[in-house]
Amino acid sequence: MEYEAVIGLEVHCQLNTQTKMFCGCRNEYGAVPNTHLCPVCLGLPGALPTPNAVAIEKTILTGLMLGCKIAPRCKFDRKNYFYADMPKNYQISQYDEPLCLGGGVKLYPLAFPKDAQKDPQANAGRVVRLTRIHLEEDVAKSTHYETQSGIDFNRAGTPLMEIVSEADLSTPEEAFAYLTALKQILVYGGVSNADMEKGQLRCDINVSVRPVGQKEFGTKVEVKNVNSISAVRRALRYEIDRQIEQAKAGGVQKQETRRWDDPRGQTTLMRTKEQAHDYRYFPDPDLMPVRTDHGLHAAAEKMLPELPEAKKARLSQDYGLSDYHASVLAAEVSLAAFYEKAAAGAKNKGAVANYLINDYLAVSDDVEEIPVPAEYFADLANLVEEGKINNRQAKEVLGYMLSEKKKPADIVAEKGLAQMSDTGALEKICAEAIAANPRSVADFKAGKLTAVNALKGFVMKATKGQANPQVIDELLKKKLTEA
Ligand SMILES: [Zn+2]
Repeated sequence: MEYEAVIGLEVHCQLNTQTKMFCGCRNEYGAVPNTHLCPVCLGLPGALPTPNAVAIEKTILTGLMLGCKIAPRCKFDRKNYFYADMPKNYQISQYDEPLCLGGGVKLYPLAFPKDAQKDPQANAGRVVRLTRIHLEEDVAKSTHYETQSGIDFNRAGTPLMEIVSEADLSTPEEAFAYLTALKQILVYGGVSNADMEKGQLRCDINVSVRPVGQKEFGTKVEVKNVNSISAVRRALRYEIDRQIEQAKAGGVQKQETRRWDDPRGQTTLMRTKEQAHDYRYFPDPDLMPVRTDHGLHAAAEKMLPELPEAKKARLSQDYGLSDYHASVLAAEVSLAAFYEKAAAGAKNKGAVANYLINDYLAVSDDVEEIPVPAEYFADLANLVEEGKINNRQAKEVLGYMLSEKKKPADIVAEKGLAQMSDTGALEKICAEAIAANPRSVADFKAGKLTAVNALKGFVMKATKGQANPQVIDELLKKKLTEA
């Protein structure tokens, strides 16, 4: 029997607000543990929470970017459970009245993992539907040492958005593409830095398998807190294989929660359904329902950025870029901004895109902090355009530019990389090339035009690659047809 997987994802996204969700404590990653605290975020008796308007606006903005319906009114509920990293014994969340409903995330080919981009499903451009987006507070962070544990309450009470997808995904590669595309939108909107290494984006996976053709879902397994996009892919591959193997052996899947052990590359059981929490949600009596149609919605609308697809279309239109180049640049909002700055001063806009994509991205994936100013890329493209260096030299200059962080013109002067366009000197070398390669000359004259390449190679070697290829091409052809 053939099996297929049914996958839904719950993404927790930390909002990058100045302050926490219900108090004025700073929302800051990496501060000295337990330095951003107050009675509200510690849940001390009598402390009263006040909702953070910016966090609500950023959640609405996320909903708008993803095509959700924004609720005109929402409320906050208490989700009751006991856990060491949650001081109040309840978490303020949203139960039956979330901020955003519906919407979707469009998958695009470049969002798929590199090795899966040629897969036909990568090109389908499917929209993965969202169920809802709600706003809640994060819990504290516990760290386990060899003999003891520590809790940092700085994270307790910071705003956390939960983005829940429908069970619309069926492969680990699609899940990868979904998370990549979603992260891109979150970064575009400036709602979160979405750095998975810092835990700013965390993912719970719901996955089940069923025989192909069966309508009903299988029993779902939840895999908690997977913290990188590639780990989600690996965890899904493992879990789908495990469930299929179990089904084929006649085993019955129980509803359970598992955790992903990345170093060991497997999921392990955390708890079964019998041990599941009963959260006993009820409306938080300390918090009034929030009306979003009294200004919060309008404020979020004002923050709407140019979205990836619109940016891609504009880059392609304004700078004459290929669809591929425009897609790569638009995939990262900071890279697109860097490109536009560089292209502004460059005569050849396409060359700048080429250097960034084919040369810079080939050696670094850091698009947040490209080590040289954008103008340097423009200068480099202009040196080629003005005939001062050739394309081969440009690659060399680019290497030095990135490693030594110097201006292209200074590198050209320092390394003596300027292109030789002096016809007199080149004419002499071309004559030598013709004298030294009678065979190629005969071939060329017999009609084999590519034979001229051997002669060009000779000249390039003699000039240590500094000859202007266009000039030698003209000179050689002229000499060969004259003689
Ligand atoms: Zn506080």
